[in-house]
Amino acid sequence: MSVALVTGVTGQDGSYLVDRLLEDGVEVHGMVRAGDPSTGQLRTAHPQVHLHETDLADGPGLHQLVREVAPDQLFNLAGISSVATSWEQPGLTGLLSGLAVAELLAAALDVQESTGRLVAVVQASSAEIFGEPDRVPQDEATAVRPTNPYGAAKAYAHHMSGIYRSRGLAVSSCILFNHESPRRPPAFVTRKITQAAARIGREGTGEIALGNLDARRDWGWAPDYVDALVRAANHPGGGDFVVATGETHSVAEFAAAALARVGIVDWERWVRTDPAFVRPTDTAQLVGDPTRAREVLGWTPTRSFTEVVHAMVDHDVQLLG
Ligand code: GDP
Repeated sequence: MSVALVTGVTGQDGSYLVDRLLEDGVEVHGMVRAGDPSTGQLRTAHPQVHLHETDLADGPGLHQLVREVAPDQLFNLAGISSVATSWEQPGLTGLLSGLAVAELLAAALDVQESTGRLVAVVQASSAEIFGEPDRVPQDEATAVRPTNPYGAAKAYAHHMSGIYRSRGLAVSSCILFNHESPRRPPAFVTRKITQAAARIGREGTGEIALGNLDARRDWGWAPDYVDALVRAANHPGGGDFVVATGETHSVAEFAAAALARVGIVDWERWVRTDPAFVRPTDTAQLVGDPTRAREVLGWTPTRSFTEVVHAMVDHDVQLLG
């Protein structure tokens, strides 16, 4: 039986990845943070997952965990997960989303060298490493030039992934564009919008206060992106892979589609712009070219933009009862 170690196991992607790995018959070890309120839920849903309490900021602890589990596959999904939070905690973002990756890579190489067994590492990288990109769409050769603390930490981790690949570790840096689902927390604009749309649809009153309505993102379906991570882990030698739909939509289009799903056509009446949600710097447009993931990993997205919006709104409508 293959053994996987997953960091960030309680997040959106971690939870879909656990579902997927268990389905595939993999022995799953999850790294959790002390006091994470989602750990209990995970324990109940999947008692067969081996949980390990280790802090991402604890370098020696990370080495010990990787040595103990000695995984065939290590998925690193942990860290600060949003650009918005990274502006509030830039140093912590560098530590958890950057330096911790260096520790994990070094620990994985140690295990590979001491056991003689191959260890595949999958780093959940981000489109934010491109910052204000010099080409549209972005692919694996686009210049890494981040413009916020989150992107800078992910860029460091992306470079370290390449460096450890050249040392003989099969590291994949999956450059994930935005990917959403009903498990997305409302700190992200998509879930914030779908929760509000569900409430407005039900109550016929309310508003959605948003920042930059013109920002354009390439929004995909999170379980598809987890499928890409699994494919990358099984790809000999690893590599860099852009994981994206290749389509871009604005925040305004997302809001319009979400409100349309609950029967509202005049979306502008329900949306207000609030400077409190406008970022100090914001990438105007991100859109990925997933050709390499398609050709090398055989990966394709299964849900369109509209299908993603509908799945999220329908879930939030259902939650309201
Ligand atoms: P990100 O791309 O990882 O930062 O994901 P987000 O979902 O947080 O943000 C996507 C885009 O939506 C960014 O360009 C934000 O500036 C923009 N946006 C506009 N209004 C909001 C808002 O109220 N909340 C958030 N989180 N983002 C917003």
